[in-house]
Amino acid sequence: MNGSNCSVSSDALLEHIFTITQDLYKEMSKGDNDAENDHNQIYRLLTDLGRILVNADRASFWKWDKRSRSLWTTAAVGAGRITIPEGTGLVGKALAEKHAIVTNDPYNDPNFNSDVDKKTGYVTKSILVMPICDCKGEFIGAYQAINKLDGNGFDLEEDVKRLSLAAFICGITLESDSFLDDSRHDKLTELKNRMGFYSDYEKIYEKMLSDTENCRSVSLFICDIDFFKKVNDTYGHNAGDAVLRHVAENFRRNSRACDGVYRWGGEEFIVVLPDSTAEQAAEAAERLRCCIMDSVCHFEDLDIKVTMSFGVTSLDPAMSAEDNIKVADEKLYRAKESGRNRVII
Ligand code: GH3
Ligand code: MG
Ligand code: MG
Repeated sequence: MNGSNCSVSSDALLEHIFTITQDLYKEMSKGDNDAENDHNQIYRLLTDLGRILVNADRASFWKWDKRSRSLWTTAAVGAGRITIPEGTGLVGKALAEKHAIVTNDPYNDPNFNSDVDKKTGYVTKSILVMPICDCKGEFIGAYQAINKLDGNGFDLEEDVKRLSLAAFICGITLESDSFLDDSRHDKLTELKNRMGFYSDYEKIYEKMLSDTENCRSVSLFICDIDFFKKVNDTYGHNAGDAVLRHVAENFRRNSRACDGVYRWGGEEFIVVLPDSTAEQAAEAAERLRCCIMDSVCHFEDLDIKVTMSFGVTSLDPAMSAEDNIKVADEKLYRAKESGRNRVII
């Protein structure tokens, strides 16, 4: 057993653990209302806890993203995320097989994915992957500890036992992060929902609007499917659902990566366009209007066509999100009143 803490005194190890758990506690009690960032900092501290528990050179904490069907980690060297497709590498294998894996000769292991080494500049000599499940037993992430020195391998039984302390806390953290993410998405269209909108508004758009130095303009449009009730009444509710998914998919495909696309409720959608004037947002809305009008939703043996009406506004930093939406909503109402299938700015 080399990977574990045979070289570290029990007192030093306990002191280390308590310092990290104290930092974790402080992080959680800061209460700055930015739950996602809190999670990132908690992941970082938990990663450090795992590294110390098994005396590893490096540890990372992988989260399974069911939406993009990928695995990502924030704990890597440098900024940003490293993302790998689900099912790949030792992390993918441990998650699929639902048990921990130790490899003390990774470059001769066919499941070892050296891409991360290439990105980080590490040469991994031994690796321990421990899958993590939530309280319902669903595997939602994995712990990975790495050593880069020869003769410093991991011991499956002893190191998994030590790592379980961090894995347990990680499981609960991941679970609450997934709950938060789910609460901000709409199940039918997989777009962000109203809660997702308010969360982004506070975190992203308000910050852009208050950036007086760069005078950033942010615009939005709200839009609504015309005579949607008729779709339900004529073809049934499942066909209506298919139309909602069809519209959402067109919005997703025809928006910029920086645009926020939300299902506001029912058959209403909101798109927020950073660094766009109302005129530019109106052009984007017009493109989407034409795209929806020209497209066909195929559902079972039906070909269903719909149109949409749009109301556009630029966001006024002095007004609340609700009041800004109200302005766009009044334009949408006028678009409906004046014949539908049009954009009003
Ligand atoms: P308008 O052009 O004035 O917008 O007419 P409309 O028929 O689209 O508007 P109305 O508000 O009368 O009807 C909206 C309908 O959308 C009624 C509601 O049953 C339906 N709807 C809301 N959410 C869903 C959903 O998730 N699935 C389906 N299939 N229908 C939905
Ligand atoms: Mg409607
Ligand atoms: Mg409506």
